[in-house]
Amino acid sequence: MSVTVVDPARIDAFTLELRELLPDAVSTDDGDLERASTDGSHLSPVIAAQLPLGRAQVVVTPASVDDIPAIVRAAVRHGVPITPRGKGTANYGQTLPMAGGAVLDLSRLRRVVEVGDGWLTAEAGAPMIAVEQAANRAGQQVLMYPSTAQSSIGGFVSGGSGGTGSIKHGMLHTGFVTALDVVHATEDAELVRVEGADTEKYLHKYGTVAIIARVTVRLEPLQDWRAFFASFDDYHDLLGVIRQIGRLEPTPRLVSGDGPVLAGALPADPAILPGKASLRAILDEASVAEATALVEAAGGTVVDVRTGAPACIKLSMTSYNHPIEWLQKAYPNTYFHVEVIGDGLVERIDELEAVYPGGMLHVEAQQGRPIGMLAGRYSSPEEVYAGFPRIEALGVGYHNPHQWFVDYEPEATRELAAQTDPTGILNPGKLDVAATVDTGSQL
Ligand SMILES: Cc1cc2nc3c(=O)[nH]c(=O)nc-3n(C[C@H](O)[C@H](O)[C@H](O)COP(=O)(O)OP(=O)(O)OC[C@H]3O[C@@H](n4cnc5c(N)ncnc54)[C@H](O)[C@@H]3O)c2cc1C
Repeated sequence: MSVTVVDPARIDAFTLELRELLPDAVSTDDGDLERASTDGSHLSPVIAAQLPLGRAQVVVTPASVDDIPAIVRAAVRHGVPITPRGKGTANYGQTLPMAGGAVLDLSRLRRVVEVGDGWLTAEAGAPMIAVEQAANRAGQQVLMYPSTAQSSIGGFVSGGSGGTGSIKHGMLHTGFVTALDVVHATEDAELVRVEGADTEKYLHKYGTVAIIARVTVRLEPLQDWRAFFASFDDYHDLLGVIRQIGRLEPTPRLVSGDGPVLAGALPADPAILPGKASLRAILDEASVAEATALVEAAGGTVVDVRTGAPACIKLSMTSYNHPIEWLQKAYPNTYFHVEVIGDGLVERIDELEAVYPGGMLHVEAQQGRPIGMLAGRYSSPEEVYAGFPRIEALGVGYHNPHQWFVDYEPEATRELAAQTDPTGILNPGKLDVAATVDTGSQL
């Protein structure tokens, strides 16, 4: 498939200028261009069939946050699109440079700058796991991190939604971020400080309104967490108790559930038993006894309870989208998924799983409505979309993960981008959602 590219003369002029300014930061090496042009969108067979959707023509990897404004000013001057990139794990194609041009790889900006009492500031490329570990060393913890714990904090706040910790703290837009240093795509681009509620309009915007250079997030006191593994003969029994476990006090950090097929696809672990449904949770030590009683009353068995941050982080890497990725590894070219939310995940599970052939649900407890990933056997995009009204008819909300458009407050995002990116060079192709694209009834 042919991809859109920018006039090579403009790329050459931009590259030449940046090579003079930042000789170590610029690459047009084929391998680097290729690596910068991929992300986690293989998770969607609908998107995967359309790849490649874009290819970088130059990769810029600054070593200092202070270099970002000059890079952006040069891109504006030369009319070169610029797609920011953290770890490149986004799973809707958000990180693909669909208009060609430059990929701004922020992975060298990985410093945790400062940890205070109740807050932490990190450079955009800092891995979430390093952010959590820095907080832990100060007797604190982040409010949430995604199952892709190695992904960057800038990528998480720009492309993610939630994860471990979301049971208590909700998704990104609920006070996770307290300040940002951003760079707008204007001729006089500089680092701009954004604080408090103003940060919200920069979250989950796929880099279309600004480059995020530094992120300040809220911290809370560190808790004594346990990685808790339980097993059930019947997935229905697990679903019958998962909401109660999610509402324990102190609130769990994560409560995930899978039926036997999804559980069987997860990385081998003696606490995930073959042929059984698996419940995995990160629990405060103070609630382990109550969780155990709930599991046993529901007909399940507690298989293991592990101590220590590494065990908990490892467990969180089997949550959210990860079971789907493991399922796809175990059964290549077979499954797709739809993100779903609502009590129907628990109360109408048989009807929900019947929406698609081979349907099976990975579920995450929340304090409100459970959320999950409904997997099904893939045949065509039309079959995927035909399931959406059937999901809704069960009172279940859905999000379509087979499209790359900013679908959180798209109108407000376009209005902001008109001011912060007047020439439209920031991650082009992610804002012009066609009326025919069903992004979902929203989670
Ligand atoms: C198997 C799997 C599991 C996942 N689990 C979760 C999960 O539990 N929770 C969740 O929320 N997400 C999840 N995701 C999606 C994704 O991994 C996360 O959102 C991740 O935090 C993105 O970080 P990243 O560094 O990889 O970002 P990237 O993929 O590099 O970028 C994500 C988006 O943000 C933009 N961007 C990146 N850095 C910046 C910046 N500094 N400034 C402005 N824009 C920027 C990019 O252009 C892109 O649009 C999962 C994905 C996969 C494949």
